[in-house]
Amino acid sequence: MPACPICKTEMKSHLIDGYQTDICPAHGMWLDKGELVGITEVERQKHGRFEWADLFRKEVRPPRHERRALSCPICGKPTVRELYHDVEIDWCRKHGVWLDKGELDAILNNLRLDPSFLRGIRVRIADTQY
Ligand SMILES: [Zn+2]
Ligand SMILES: [Zn+2]
Repeated sequence: MPACPICKTEMKSHLIDGYQTDICPAHGMWLDKGELVGITEVERQKHGRFEWADLFRKEVRPPRHERRALSCPICGKPTVRELYHDVEIDWCRKHGVWLDKGELDAILNNLRLDPSFLRGIRVRIADTQY
């Protein structure tokens, strides 16, 4: 089991939409490469239509951590910070992404503000790198 990049304790395996993710209950979750786009696609298929709640939906911007340096729980190399739908993610190009607590919900929320995401016509080639 990989260790949480923040507190270094062993993460627990946690199933989300059929994907085996690793979570630290205190800090967040690790998604192996491809799992982020996989999970957002399953969520789009589950709730792919406009819902009334979407009328009142606002963009969520979790706090950023400009000075924080994390390392990939798989290879130990420093992760890079990137903005993904207004959420700062910590990314290892080879292995996947670290999301702080609440960031997956923020990403799913922000994706729904993009009408092309709900219509499923969004070209998500760039997203598959995560
Ligand atoms: Zn932790
Ligand atoms: Zn790595």
